Amino acid sequence: MNVSCLYPGWDCLHVGLSLNQMNVYLQRPSLDGVCPSCSHSSERIHSYYWRTLTDTPMGERAVILHLRCRKFFCRQQACSQRIFTERHPAWCHPYARKTNRLRSFLTKLAFSLAAEAASRLAPFYGVRVSADTFLALVRSEPLRAFQAPTVIGLDDWAMKKGHQYGTLICDLETKRPIGLFAGRTTEAVKAWLAPYPSIRMVTRDGSREYAKAITEARPDALQITDRWHLFHHVSRSIDHWLKRVFPGKGTISVLIASSTSTASDPTSRPLTEKEEQKWQVIQQVQAQHRQGISISRISRELSLDRKTVRKYCSLRTPMSHARHRSHSVEPYRSVILPLVKKGVSATHIFTVIQALGYQKSFSTLKDFLARVRASPAGHTSPHVFPLSRNRLHTYLWSPSALSSQEAAAVNVLEDQHPSLREVKVLVETFQQRMQHRTDWPSFEAWVQQAAQSSIPEMQNVSTYLISDWKAVANAYHFPWSNGLVEGHVNRIKVIKRQMYGRANVDLLRQKVLYTWPKV
Ligand SMILES: [Zn+2]
Repeated sequence: MNVSCLYPGWDCLHVGLSLNQMNVYLQRPSLDGVCPSCSHSSERIHSYYWRTLTDTPMGERAVILHLRCRKFFCRQQACSQRIFTERHPAWCHPYARKTNRLRSFLTKLAFSLAAEAASRLAPFYGVRVSADTFLALVRSEPLRAFQAPTVIGLDDWAMKKGHQYGTLICDLETKRPIGLFAGRTTEAVKAWLAPYPSIRMVTRDGSREYAKAITEARPDALQITDRWHLFHHVSRSIDHWLKRVFPGKGTISVLIASSTSTASDPTSRPLTEKEEQKWQVIQQVQAQHRQGISISRISRELSLDRKTVRKYCSLRTPMSHARHRSHSVEPYRSVILPLVKKGVSATHIFTVIQALGYQKSFSTLKDFLARVRASPAGHTSPHVFPLSRNRLHTYLWSPSALSSQEAAAVNVLEDQHPSLREVKVLVETFQQRMQHRTDWPSFEAWVQQAAQSSIPEMQNVSTYLISDWKAVANAYHFPWSNGLVEGHVNRIKVIKRQMYGRANVDLLRQKVLYTWPKV
């Protein structure tokens, strides 16, 4: 069996095959060896010995290389080394038990998976490696050097949420994470920043510690507060305001007066939020079906069962209405209303509608008549709409996201709470100013407007922005943001979970900062 082509630069002496292993015996054809101390070659052989290495597997067989190696005498008088062994740097390191290519493969496996998972997977690739070895491979891998950064972003990440935090630093130009360490204190950040006078801009959240560290370590660098965090700050302030103005468990009961729009349909009642969402899906399914898109494709795209898609295609009204059947007297409303107006007695109306097929009791009719008399115009009676505080929050940021029922409830609330309109205008203006970022004076005007508003929470937003004014102004004028760093913070979370939250900072640093070689 000729396997020489798999081992260039070696003479293949013998190949031994067993059921799950291939033993390859190799020897260098060259006559001399190079002394590692003085770099002179020597042909004076001292002795032979066998070196055993595990190589990348072949098929399902593990491959063991048996290298017939030589020891040489060094003939240089001045050299301190008398005897040396021949080296094969392209194939293996001194004392290594694995070939370089196997080690490289295992290292990539170690960076892809948690050590335990890699250890379970490795035997399927013909090698048995312990979890500890995988951890050692991660730790011993030298990280690729990075060029001195100019624009960086920093953010914190939780080592133990609420207790211990670390800091992640990314080069925003090369989009690479370049620093990860425990702690988010001024001292820790200063220590990292100190060796890099090249840094010109730093994006960060509103942390005072970070601001102080950057000011002290790199006083010339521009600080840019992260725009997402500004939005987050406004959003949190709105949450506080909502909780203060609409206290309770999170649902605001809004009394909605009679609605003419629903009166024409006797079966109608307001859809709940979930029903409204479902009805929108049903309408989407029907629209796609009308366009000739197949049931199976709709089912695939919307992740719905095919039976469900078929059912949705046949529906004509929201599903809730099928379950909550209308009042049994409702079908006779058009007959009853004129009689009520004429002052006809309940008994007579009962007789009339019985003749038309009404089969329920007299008391059911009386109950219905009581409701009709309470709203003589024939409209549906006033009802209480449960509007969640979260939906009200959603409305402030994105009014079009509300269902028609929710919008009606918000209208009522706006009449009752004028501050709701004030907040709405402030949020809308804030969004516009931050989205376009072309007119700085108009943003300054917004901050003034917030300061002068009647809402303490919005006044606080203004105070907060003014306290970090330069960084806020830079956020307005420069395109850089912390988005990339936030993305890598999410990556840290994934890696931590993959390792069951047991990774030490040094291991995390290796895994997060590791750069995959290009193939
Ligand atoms: Zn030597």
